Amino acid sequence: MTRLTSALDNDSGAPGSIAPLPGDVEVAGAPSWRLATALMATIEVEELLHRFFHLLREQSPCDAFAYRHDPIGLRVRFGIVGRSHAEYHLKLGDQSLGYIGFSRRRRFVESDLELIERALGILLHPLRNALRFRDVRESARRDPLTGVFNRTAMDELLARQLAHSCREGGAVSLLILDIDNFKQINDRFGHGVGDDVLIALAEVLQSVCRGSDPVFRYAGDEFVVIMPEAEEAGVRCLAERLREAVQTHNFGLPGDALVEVSLGIASCRPGDTPESLLQRADRGLYRAKGAGRNRVEGE
Ligand code: GH3
Ligand code: MG
Repeated sequence: MTRLTSALDNDSGAPGSIAPLPGDVEVAGAPSWRLATALMATIEVEELLHRFFHLLREQSPCDAFAYRHDPIGLRVRFGIVGRSHAEYHLKLGDQSLGYIGFSRRRRFVESDLELIERALGILLHPLRNALRFRDVRESARRDPLTGVFNRTAMDELLARQLAHSCREGGAVSLLILDIDNFKQINDRFGHGVGDDVLIALAEVLQSVCRGSDPVFRYAGDEFVVIMPEAEEAGVRCLAERLREAVQTHNFGLPGDALVEVSLGIASCRPGDTPESLLQRADRGLYRAKGAGRNRVEGE
């Protein structure tokens, strides 16, 4: 664990290294086992950090707390940010466990930082385990070939979005995209090249959707994009952008062969289930194929 900045002097200070802590230190009078036991009781990263901050704040060395682990896009914040800051890079061996920052209205003094650092020493192993657990659970929600979310993740999100829209009355739309004549690509260039096209296609879709609308591999050459809060005009616009982006992308196929896609779109109506919404988009896709491919159609 490395202290990156401290607030001892004008809210910034020189970097320094913190020695690992022995197992049974006292955390401001509270035996460390109380913190250790509280952290042992969960394997969820967010819950773990919440418990950590809650117990630390009982000893009042900080008012706010922010954790970030950029490689997995995880950010967690609690409390109201003050003007005094201290930030640490959390590491176990060579493994980075992310960055954690504390802030407070009153200036931190060395004894506050010692307390925080002792508590961080107790956090490290449970945090590493929670991150591993998250990683395993995340990989069960990903398609191994393309890295986009898989059908299990899609079923979960769609059910959640529809329940939310039922309760709050918001919109949900989705599109299904299918590669045109993909069998020919496999037949002409081989299955390995077909796989490369699927991987590159997933990248194109993700870059156009820019993380706000999640991309799922639905089946062999079919992908789904869910657009929470979007009406029909929004999903049609995204579908057209995706169609064009794929058509103009250089997939590096022999003879500059093109890859084209057809898309079906649907927006949620009262009483819709995940199945009925997907079926409408699928009917749109069927129409797009029947009308000559490389186009977008609703039901
Ligand atoms: P259409 O325009 O009607 O969609 O015709 P198509 O040739 O694309 O036919 P369809 O979508 O029905 O077939 C998809 C093909 O995708 C069938 C299968 O061989 C191929 N496929 C499915 N999964 C994979 C995969 O993981 N890798 C490769 N290379 N091919 C796959
Ligand atoms: Mg196809």
